Amino acid sequence: MPASMQGEMQPTIYRFKLGGFEVATIMDSKVIRSGLSPSFGGEAAASEVKALAAANRIEADRYEHPFTPTVVNTGKELVLFDTGNGSLRDEHAQLKGRLPPGNLVARMAQAGYKPEDVDVVVLTHGHPDHIGGLTKGGQPVFPNARYVIGAAEFDFWHKGENVREARKFNRELYVKIVVPLANRATMIKPGDEVVPGITAVDAFGHSPGLLAFHIESEGKRLLNWADTCGHYVVSLQRPDLHLDVDDEKEKAVATRKRILAMVASEGLMVAGFHMPFPGLGWVEKAGSAYRWVPHSYQMNL
Ligand SMILES: [Zn+2]
Repeated sequence: MPASMQGEMQPTIYRFKLGGFEVATIMDSKVIRSGLSPSFGGEAAASEVKALAAANRIEADRYEHPFTPTVVNTGKELVLFDTGNGSLRDEHAQLKGRLPPGNLVARMAQAGYKPEDVDVVVLTHGHPDHIGGLTKGGQPVFPNARYVIGAAEFDFWHKGENVREARKFNRELYVKIVVPLANRATMIKPGDEVVPGITAVDAFGHSPGLLAFHIESEGKRLLNWADTCGHYVVSLQRPDLHLDVDDEKEKAVATRKRILAMVASEGLMVAGFHMPFPGLGWVEKAGSAYRWVPHSYQMNL
């Protein structure tokens, strides 16, 4: 009897030491999306995006879109950055075709973390794939956690002024899921400290108040840039291209360029929510733009 086919199998958890901290990237879920174009750069850039895909040995007509929260154990507190898609797909018919079911809690369990172990949940921003796992059936998923939320982001969604048509449902979700948690939340701005070693960085643009986070322990450093870049090829090699899911497009471009320049010149390791698993890498200057250098074994040594 020949051995039977077992189907795809891919890693979803990666953990390493960063100085005195332990950092884990845990893929909540992923989805295969159609077409890098027109999502990146619109119809006007279609041929350029296709050429970019071909040059990087990836398909232009479909791409893998992972959702990867980061967990940091500082030794004193367990800090979770973003919560993945949770049960959004089951609880909201509008999202059924758009988002995969979240697996964060199950995969955190595989990594040895129970929901009640999480001390701090940090929200980089308010888009569905980042807030979806906060509640299930209206109940908080991380019962002992306090929350850390960007003040500008909270104000934007809470007030609900100037929310573009494509984000109207996102605003409903934010009001339903995040606003009720505000009484257990600390509202922060760029430069503020979350816990010792973790500091917020201005990444406004992709969403009006997107925050990145600088994480440092014993001289080892990492930037969790969240959604500053949406794709490891297109966003780095053409940071100027508007992305359909960027809320403030010119600001998102300026922020991408500023943060790419910073991590490239400082040789700073990056954790990116939508970068290929384990979502870790470095950014290298390439011509007038950049390229993604994926993590291989550097953090295993
Ligand atoms: Zn996202």
